Amino acid sequence: MSLERKTVKAQVSRMESLDFFPQLPAGLKEVENALMEFPTAAMCESWVTDWLQGHEDFPKPAAIYASLRTVKNLQTETQEAWKNPPAEKYDCPHGCKGWGTIRNEAGAHQFCLCSAGQALREASPGWLELLGRLDARARKTPRSAKGGLSTKLEGLEGRYYEAKKGADG
Ligand SMILES: [Zn+2]
Repeated sequence: MSLERKTVKAQVSRMESLDFFPQLPAGLKEVENALMEFPTAAMCESWVTDWLQGHEDFPKPAAIYASLRTVKNLQTETQEAWKNPPAEKYDCPHGCKGWGTIRNEAGAHQFCLCSAGQALREASPGWLELLGRLDARARKTPRSAKGGLSTKLEGLEGRYYEAKKGADG
Protein backbone atom coordinates (compact mmCIF):
# COMPACT_ATOMS: atom_id res chain seq x y z
CA MET A 1 0.00 0.00 0.00
CA SER A 2 1.28 3.42 -0.78
CA LEU A 3 0.44 6.85 0.55
CA GLU A 4 -2.14 9.03 -1.17
CA ARG A 5 -0.82 11.53 -3.65
CA LYS A 6 -2.50 14.44 -1.83
CA THR A 7 -0.74 13.45 1.42
CA VAL A 8 2.56 13.50 -0.40
CA LYS A 9 1.81 16.77 -2.24
CA ALA A 10 1.44 18.49 1.14
CA GLN A 11 4.94 17.28 2.05
CA VAL A 12 6.38 18.30 -1.33
CA SER A 13 4.98 21.79 -0.87
CA ARG A 14 7.03 22.14 2.34
CA MET A 15 10.10 21.94 0.08
CA GLU A 16 8.97 24.62 -2.37
CA SER A 17 11.56 27.11 -1.20
CA LEU A 18 14.48 24.80 -1.92
CA ASP A 19 16.84 25.35 -4.85
CA PHE A 20 16.12 23.42 -8.05
CA PHE A 21 12.44 22.88 -7.25
CA PRO A 22 11.22 21.01 -10.38
CA GLN A 23 9.67 23.36 -12.92
CA LEU A 24 8.08 20.54 -14.92
CA PRO A 25 5.18 18.42 -13.64
CA ALA A 26 7.03 15.26 -14.71
CA GLY A 27 9.93 16.02 -12.37
CA LEU A 28 7.60 16.69 -9.47
CA LYS A 29 5.65 13.54 -10.16
CA GLU A 30 8.76 11.38 -9.90
CA VAL A 31 9.50 12.80 -6.45
CA GLU A 32 5.87 12.36 -5.40
CA ASN A 33 5.94 8.75 -6.60
CA ALA A 34 9.03 8.11 -4.54
CA LEU A 35 7.58 9.74 -1.40
CA MET A 36 4.37 7.72 -1.81
CA GLU A 37 6.40 4.60 -1.14
CA PHE A 38 6.89 5.50 2.53
CA PRO A 39 4.98 3.05 4.72
CA THR A 40 3.31 5.79 6.77
CA ALA A 41 2.53 9.48 6.38
CA ALA A 42 4.45 10.15 9.61
CA MET A 43 7.60 8.59 8.20
CA CYS A 44 7.23 10.55 4.99
CA GLU A 45 6.80 13.77 6.96
CA SER A 46 9.78 12.92 9.12
CA TRP A 47 11.92 12.28 6.05
CA VAL A 48 10.97 15.66 4.57
CA THR A 49 11.75 17.39 7.88
CA ASP A 50 15.19 15.76 7.90
CA TRP A 51 15.78 16.78 4.32
CA LEU A 52 14.80 20.40 5.02
CA GLN A 53 17.18 20.52 7.95
CA GLY A 54 20.11 19.17 6.00
CA HIS A 55 19.78 20.37 2.41
CA GLU A 56 19.35 23.54 0.41
CA ASP A 57 18.36 21.86 -2.83
CA PHE A 58 15.29 19.85 -3.78
CA PRO A 59 15.77 16.08 -3.40
CA LYS A 60 16.35 13.86 -6.42
CA PRO A 61 14.19 10.73 -6.53
CA ALA A 62 17.35 8.63 -6.08
CA ALA A 63 17.94 10.16 -2.64
CA ILE A 64 14.41 9.26 -1.59
CA TYR A 65 14.68 5.70 -2.90
CA ALA A 66 17.96 5.23 -1.03
CA SER A 67 16.24 6.22 2.25
CA LEU A 68 13.28 4.02 1.40
CA ARG A 69 15.54 1.00 1.02
CA THR A 70 16.84 1.58 4.54
CA VAL A 71 13.32 2.00 5.90
CA LYS A 72 12.07 -1.12 4.12
CA ASN A 73 14.99 -3.21 5.33
CA LEU A 74 14.23 -2.10 8.88
CA GLN A 75 10.58 -2.96 8.39
CA THR A 76 11.31 -6.39 6.97
CA GLU A 77 13.70 -7.18 9.80
CA THR A 78 11.15 -6.11 12.37
CA GLN A 79 8.35 -8.02 10.69
CA GLU A 80 10.46 -11.14 10.39
CA ALA A 81 11.44 -10.89 14.03
CA TRP A 82 7.79 -10.51 14.95
CA LYS A 83 6.59 -13.38 12.72
CA ASN A 84 9.21 -15.85 13.86
CA PRO A 85 10.19 -14.85 17.35
CA PRO A 86 12.56 -17.36 18.93
CA ALA A 87 10.94 -18.70 22.09
CA GLU A 88 13.29 -16.85 24.44
CA LYS A 89 12.24 -13.51 23.06
CA TYR A 90 8.85 -13.82 24.67
CA ASP A 91 10.43 -14.53 28.03
CA CYS A 92 12.44 -11.35 28.04
CA PRO A 93 13.22 -10.59 31.71
CA HIS A 94 13.30 -6.87 30.92
CA GLY A 95 9.79 -6.84 29.49
CA CYS A 96 10.37 -5.93 25.85
CA LYS A 97 8.21 -8.91 24.75
CA GLY A 98 10.56 -9.63 21.89
CA TRP A 99 10.32 -6.15 20.36
CA GLY A 100 13.89 -5.41 21.37
CA THR A 101 13.18 -1.97 22.78
CA ILE A 102 11.94 -0.82 26.15
CA ARG A 103 11.44 2.58 27.72
CA ASN A 104 13.69 3.82 30.46
CA GLU A 105 12.45 5.67 33.57
CA ALA A 106 12.43 8.96 31.67
CA GLY A 107 10.19 7.41 29.01
CA ALA A 108 12.88 7.35 26.32
CA HIS A 109 13.30 4.34 24.08
CA GLN A 110 16.35 2.17 24.57
CA PHE A 111 17.55 -1.15 23.21
CA CYS A 112 16.61 -4.01 25.50
CA LEU A 113 19.43 -5.95 27.16
CA CYS A 114 18.06 -9.26 25.86
CA SER A 115 19.17 -10.94 22.63
CA ALA A 116 16.32 -9.35 20.66
CA GLY A 117 17.45 -5.92 21.79
CA GLN A 118 21.09 -6.60 20.99
CA ALA A 119 20.21 -8.02 17.56
CA LEU A 120 18.09 -4.98 16.83
CA ARG A 121 20.89 -2.64 17.94
CA GLU A 122 23.29 -4.35 15.55
CA ALA A 123 20.88 -4.54 12.64
CA SER A 124 19.36 -1.07 12.99
CA PRO A 125 21.35 1.42 15.04
CA GLY A 126 19.02 4.20 13.88
CA TRP A 127 15.89 2.53 15.20
CA LEU A 128 15.76 4.36 18.55
CA GLU A 129 16.16 7.69 16.84
CA LEU A 130 13.22 6.85 14.59
CA LEU A 131 11.03 5.82 17.53
CA GLY A 132 12.08 8.94 19.41
CA ARG A 133 11.14 11.15 16.51
CA LEU A 134 7.71 9.54 16.24
CA ASP A 135 7.30 10.11 19.99
CA ALA A 136 8.31 13.73 19.76
CA ARG A 137 5.78 14.24 17.02
CA ALA A 138 3.00 12.68 19.11
CA ARG A 139 3.96 14.73 22.15
CA LYS A 140 4.16 18.14 20.54
CA THR A 141 2.25 20.32 22.99
CA PRO A 142 2.72 24.05 23.29
CA ARG A 143 4.37 25.12 26.50
CA SER A 144 2.13 27.07 28.85
CA ALA A 145 2.97 30.75 29.12
CA LYS A 146 1.71 30.93 32.68
CA GLY A 147 3.98 32.07 35.47
CA GLY A 148 5.62 34.89 33.56
CA LEU A 149 4.04 38.30 33.25
CA SER A 150 0.85 37.57 35.19
CA THR A 151 2.77 36.52 38.32
CA LYS A 152 4.80 39.73 38.20
CA LEU A 153 1.65 41.82 37.84
CA GLU A 154 0.01 40.08 40.79
CA GLY A 155 3.09 40.85 42.86
CA LEU A 156 2.96 44.53 41.94
CA GLU A 157 -0.74 44.70 42.65
CA GLY A 158 -0.21 43.17 46.09
CA ARG A 159 2.48 45.73 46.94
CA TYR A 160 0.24 48.56 45.71
CA TYR A 161 -2.58 47.56 48.03
CA GLU A 162 -0.21 47.14 50.95
CA ALA A 163 1.20 50.60 50.37
CA LYS A 164 -2.27 52.07 49.99
CA LYS A 165 -3.43 50.43 53.23
CA GLY A 166 -0.41 51.94 54.97
CA ALA A 167 -1.21 55.41 53.62
CA ASP A 168 -4.92 55.20 54.48
CA GLY A 169 -4.41 53.86 57.97
ZN1 LIG B 1 14.10 -7.78 25.79
